[in-house]
Amino acid sequence: MRLSPSQDQACPELSPSQVKQYQACPERWAKRKIDRIKVTDDSGDAAAIGTAVHGVLEAAGRAWVAAREVARPTVEQLHSALAAQALAPDLHDSAAEILATLQPDLDLSRCCLVEHEIALDLGEVKLAGYVDRIDHVDDHVYVIDYKTGQLPSTDLALDAQVGIYLVWARLTWPTAEITAVWDYLAHRTRRRVRWTPELDRYHRREVIATAAAMRGRWRVARPGQACAWCPYTGACSDYHRWLAEGLGPESAESASLSSLAAAYAAARELAKAADAQRKELGARLLAMLGEDKTRTDGTARVTRVRTTRHSYGPEAVLAVADATGDDACDVWRRAWPKPRPSSALAAYADAEGIGWILREQEQVRTSEHVRVGIE
Ligand code: SF4
Repeated sequence: MRLSPSQDQACPELSPSQVKQYQACPERWAKRKIDRIKVTDDSGDAAAIGTAVHGVLEAAGRAWVAAREVARPTVEQLHSALAAQALAPDLHDSAAEILATLQPDLDLSRCCLVEHEIALDLGEVKLAGYVDRIDHVDDHVYVIDYKTGQLPSTDLALDAQVGIYLVWARLTWPTAEITAVWDYLAHRTRRRVRWTPELDRYHRREVIATAAAMRGRWRVARPGQACAWCPYTGACSDYHRWLAEGLGPESAESASLSSLAAAYAAARELAKAADAQRKELGARLLAMLGEDKTRTDGTARVTRVRTTRHSYGPEAVLAVADATGDDACDVWRRAWPKPRPSSALAAYADAEGIGWILREQEQVRTSEHVRVGIE
């Protein structure tokens, strides 16, 4: 984990996707937003197709809300609306295919809002964004987001965008049942997450903690499957370490000695770097604590911990013998049949006496560090 020099940057209004991107990999977010590393993003084509499909559905939704005429557009109607999206010819077919796939499930008859602007004020965090579509059925509100990409492999209920929309919708319609519907158009699959008080609390906490981390410019790389779509792999040492460490048990069996040794060396370097970063962060947290023993900020509790270590090595035994005028052999003999330095000293004098002697002889070390708990 790394911190860039400034910790006090004001956090502007956030969008749900920014929160989500930061949670997925803070390092990727920082490379783009803080380091401003320019890259060629391969996701351009997929994004263009997604924008065009969204545009077609937005137009169909707006037409329904305005005139209530066509609740179930035909494939031909969708394709002719696609022509207005000025999509490059080589991408047109992919977008047309997605529209043809989703069409049998398209029903706008409950749609009441399209591309609706939202604003969510959580006190220390303000969020703004757009919801693709909102359906209203009796006392139930469905917050719908169109997805043209892959199905997620993680639990959708924990997705930041889902959470932010649920919290916002519940504040907007406090007595309604709220469900977020993630519509994976190319897969004809809808995933639903229903609002609950527990989920509401969870996402509020997560968003506030994420915004605090963004303000503090906390950076930590989260290498994983998402690296496959990251444009910064070339500039990301954590990604390369992750690849090296990813030499799992199956490949390890067939791996050569040199590749295992290289993976081991990379992991050892990572551990060293992590340890140095941990110490640096610990020192910063101690400085932030000032005179306080403990402080809580959002979901984080930081506590100052003092550790005192007594050295019970041979030097300590000699120091005790020296200070008491006894022979070192006497000190050792008293510990018999367990002649270890610590039992020798414990047997020789009371703890306070030993503590005093050891302190005098600089055989006692008191250090301060922090204990950090995240709820
Ligand atoms: S390559 Fe992976 S770990 Fe590195 S910044 Fe990108 S997503 Fe994060």
